[in-house]
Amino acid sequence: MEELSFKKCPRCRGAVTYEKFYGRDEQFWGWKCLFCGDIIDPVILQNRRLMHMHQGENVSQSL
Ligand SMILES: [Zn+2]
Repeated sequence: MEELSFKKCPRCRGAVTYEKFYGRDEQFWGWKCLFCGDIIDPVILQNRRLMHMHQGENVSQSL
């Protein structure tokens, strides 16, 4: 199991803060890097992972 918490920015290894963000329709909690301003949130990470999975596969069937 991956632990969904970040103490450092994966991009620049700066300090991150846990904040509430407001999207178009919903709000979510995520981490924001104090140095580069990168926003890390579980939903985005999950979407990226799914995209990577789809890119890695031979997509012969669409669900
Ligand atoms: Zn950063």
